[in-house]
This record gives sequence, C-alpha cells and structure tokens, in this order.
Amino acid sequence: MQPSMFNVRVPLEGRDEVFLMNTFTDAQLIVSREVSDFLDRLAHDAHPSLTDDERAALATLTENGFIVESRDTDRQNVREFFHSVREGQEQLRLTVLTTLQCNFACGYCFQGDHGDYNKHAAKMTMETAERVAQWAEERLDTLKPESFALTFFGGEPLLNLPVMYFLAERLWASSQARGVRMLVNIITNGLLLTPEVVDRMAPYGLNGVKITLDGDRDMHNKMRPLRGGQGTFDKIVNNVRQVAGKCRISIGGNFDEESVETYPALLDFLREQEFADKLTRVAFKPVIRARSAPRVPDAAPKPGGKFIALTALGAGAKPLNGTCMTSAGGGTSICDNCNFIDDKMAFLREETMKRGFATVDGVHMGPCEIHRKHAHTIGPDGALYACPGFTGDARMSTGHIDGRQEAWRQSAASRFDALAAWQQCDDCAFIPVCAGGCTVAAHTELGDLNAPNCHKSSFEAGLVTLARQAAAASASTN
Ligand code: SF4
Ligand code: SF4
Repeated sequence: MQPSMFNVRVPLEGRDEVFLMNTFTDAQLIVSREVSDFLDRLAHDAHPSLTDDERAALATLTENGFIVESRDTDRQNVREFFHSVREGQEQLRLTVLTTLQCNFACGYCFQGDHGDYNKHAAKMTMETAERVAQWAEERLDTLKPESFALTFFGGEPLLNLPVMYFLAERLWASSQARGVRMLVNIITNGLLLTPEVVDRMAPYGLNGVKITLDGDRDMHNKMRPLRGGQGTFDKIVNNVRQVAGKCRISIGGNFDEESVETYPALLDFLREQEFADKLTRVAFKPVIRARSAPRVPDAAPKPGGKFIALTALGAGAKPLNGTCMTSAGGGTSICDNCNFIDDKMAFLREETMKRGFATVDGVHMGPCEIHRKHAHTIGPDGALYACPGFTGDARMSTGHIDGRQEAWRQSAASRFDALAAWQQCDDCAFIPVCAGGCTVAAHTELGDLNAPNCHKSSFEAGLVTLARQAAAASASTN
C-alpha cells in the first residue's frame, strides 16, 4: 500500500488544510494537514500501525484512488487507461477542413488573403465531399458509436458553405438512420457567421461555434484585419450578437507578449454585452508563429523581440501551410491544450473567471484527440491526418478516404498508432491529463513524434486555480 503517483496537492492559504487531487481518478478532496502528513508517512512505511481516525482516513483515501497497492498498480492503470482512450468506440470524431482559403490577413499567419495565396489554396469539391460522406458512413457502420462529433475547420470553413451544408445534412440523415447522436461544431473567424448560416445548420445537430477575438477592439483589428487593413472586430461582435441564443458560442483568442495586456479590456467588453451569459466558454492561448515572422502585416521582423518563443509549425514562412492558426496546435485547437505559456495562461484564466465566464481550468486538458484511434482529420483533398495540427504537412497523412494504399501513409499511420510519449515521463503526476504533451509541438520542435513536450508548470498553475476554487466552494458551504 502506498500513495498514488498521480496525487497532487496544494496547501490552502490561511487554512490548516490541503487540496488533494488524483489526476487518474479525478478525485478532489480538501483534507487536514494531518491527513496530508499521513500520506507522506505511508510513502515511507507501507504497513504503519493506525489509530481509528487514520483507519477511517485510509478507507476514504483508498476509495478515491489516493492510495494504491503499489507503483505497478499505478503504471498498469495508466496503461489500461490510454489503451481504452485509444480504442474507445463510443464516439466517432471527424474534423473536416472545407477549404484552406481564408478571408482574413492575420499578421501571425502567412495564409489567408496575403498575396495570391487564396488563388492556389485547396478547397474541397462536392465530389470529394460526397466521398467524405461515404467514408464517414462506412466508419459509422463499422464502429457503431453512440455519438458522432463533426467539426468544420479550415482555412475559413464558411468560405465553402455548399460543402459544409451538404456534409451536415447528409451525415445528419445517416446518423439518424443509424440511431447515432450527431453534434456539429464550427471553428470560424466569425466574419461570415450570420443568422442564416446558424438557422440552416441548426436542424442538423449544430452544437457550438468557436470564434476568435485577438484582444480588445484595437488589438484585434491590428492582429486580424482584412487584406486592405480594415478592422473586423465590430462586424464579428455584431454577428455574435445576432446568433447568440441560437447556438452555443465560445470565444477563443491568440495572444502574444504585447496583446496579452489588452485581454482584460476585451473581457470587460464581453461582460458588458447582452450576450455575455450566452457565451459557453472563453479561453485564450498563445499565438504560434515562426520566430522570424512579423507581428503585424508589413511590420519588420523582430527576431527574439516581442515574440513568445513558441513552436514554429512547418518550414519557412508557412507555419501551418494553410491550416488556420487560430486553432491548430493549441487547445481543445481545435484543441486548447498545448503550447501554452504558463504564467500568461494562468493570468488570463484568472481574469476570465473573475468576470464570470466558463473557461478551461488548466488541469483537465487531455488526453487530446491524437490519442484516439477514432478521431480523424480530413483535408480538402480527402487526405486523412491524426490531428488538425498535422494537416499542413502532407507527409504526415495517415491515409486517404479513397482507401488508396501507399507505404508512406501507412508508415505515418503506424507511427501515430504507437504514440506513447508519456512513457518517458517517469512518475510525473500529470500523465493522465497530459499524455506527454502536444505531439505536433514535439514533432516540430524536437523532430520526434514520441518525445514529451513538457509544460508541467502550466499544469501546476492550473492546479493552484483548482485549489482556490475548491477552497472558495467549501468556504461558501460552511
Ligand atoms: S497533438 Fe497537439 S495539435 Fe494535435 S490534437 Fe493534440 S494538442 Fe492538439
Ligand atoms: S510532458 Fe511533462 S507534464 Fe506532461 S506528462 Fe510528461 S513530464 Fe508530465
């Protein structure tokens, strides 16, 4: 008998108590210092003589997973956990990039309406969309999942409405016919998000729309302008105003060292809006950019200057080769759970919570979808990828919806099948919620898909936030 390696704890300020969490069972307790000390004693003495109080504490701690038989038990549990995440068939997840074209000219992204990019950027044809639908139906028939999560992404997905409407309608009918619950999400820059689009999608499982605002009005307009430099903030906010209440809206944002200071003003602005209580989540993350990339269009590069040193995804000046940088490689990113800058993330999380918005807690961040065998990303040409963060690199394609057999794709697929960076993380307590970090970042920064990409201090900062919340909740019930 010994304390689990997945126990984490935070002493509560001004109280003789400790917040205890087990990241494997997700149990969270506030205990006295004696109980916390008792756990320490158990670490050194597996068979101590116990008082009645200690026996009672032992029973509660064991029941919640804070005490396990041995370190081998922990390791076996986590192996089985990742296996069940990988093989889980309850949900089929599909992210479809309807196009790599974009109507924005974001300074940190070298895609969008820069130069003649959009003339050549890929866009899914109706023929490919038809094959995507057939492929998804075959997956539904094979897997027989309880639910089907379909996400539209890009580029800017709303620049290819015919494909989005076709896939939503067709796959809604396919899901209904099979008794599968379908949920549709859209990740968009918000410029074309009209009530007509939402009304058209609503009958086909529209669950949520994620929109990006990069700081307050002035900062956003500088970071995410149209090609002519026109601001987009007012138009996006007006669109949100018109569709809030019709569907779930979450707000994301990409910050850097300079723009992070404007986010409290953005949060104040959002709080004042009549749609504030209709926002289901507000969560920000750092922008990903090549280190030599200019901050705003036409600005001179400032190597080593104002940039937060983050992963440059892809080579040269095309960080994601057309995949929208608002989401890939970061968080729920589509994921919001990687490449975060620890202290800034903690600052923005607290500012967001202070204003009463739901946000990510910084601990429950994974495992992300790359660890799920039945989560797929499909590029505009029908190529399959393990996650949206790899769509900018065709060599990382794991297959194709037309079933073509190519050795290089099969080899990539086998490498993703065998992912287990966490196995190099020794006895880190955050393995169940981190799984070794973002694979895209590991591949790009370290040249190794299977190397841990560690942001442990960010999990530790998230834990402090969780502890404060638990302390506040317990104080209000006492
Ligand atoms: S590997 Fe990174 S980019 Fe891909 S889903 Fe996971 S956290 Fe997101
Ligand atoms: S990458 Fe870091 S935080 Fe994540 S499991 Fe490994 S050691 Fe822990």
